[in-house]
Amino acid sequence: MAKPIKCPSCSVGNLRITEIPYRVPYFGTILLVTLRCENCGFSHRDLFSIDFHEPMHYEVKVKGVEDLKIRVIRSSSGTIRIPELGVRIDPGPFAEGFISNVEGVLERVERAAMVLLHGAVDVEEKKRCLDFLEELRKAKDGLLEFTLMLDDPYGNSAILSADEGKVVKRRLTEEEVRSLKSGRILLETG
Ligand SMILES: [Zn+2]
Repeated sequence: MAKPIKCPSCSVGNLRITEIPYRVPYFGTILLVTLRCENCGFSHRDLFSIDFHEPMHYEVKVKGVEDLKIRVIRSSSGTIRIPELGVRIDPGPFAEGFISNVEGVLERVERAAMVLLHGAVDVEEKKRCLDFLEELRKAKDGLLEFTLMLDDPYGNSAILSADEGKVVKRRLTEEEVRSLKSGRILLETG
């Protein structure tokens, strides 16, 4: 039995760790990990690939509602970008891993933008948030073409489509791995 991990939120309770293997077509088996504190309710989700994957860049052009169903697997080490919307989701210790689809990614961005909207300090900032939410809604309705990019120096993340050729993927260059926030550890050990 591993040593109990103290909860980073309340520092009183211990984290209960649940690991569930999950088979993903066209990718392999991933491990869904949930950390949960029974004292304060803090929880954190992440996922990792069991198989070894190269540092990868995935990219898909979303051209309509049908493309919103394309599956997205994001580990906490994955960076998500949507250049047309100016969206970037960086990795970090509190970045959550999830299995979702393109629409689910947009919903996460929408929730974050709503939080920003409620915290807006002036009219200008509020307007920026509202304009952004408007663009996001178009994207969610399939009325706005955009590119979803996903980079992961550990290859734990992926964009997956049954339609071959829809998703462009390639190995990340050393340069790109270095520029990613979570790339450092890989280079130090590698
Ligand atoms: Zn706690």
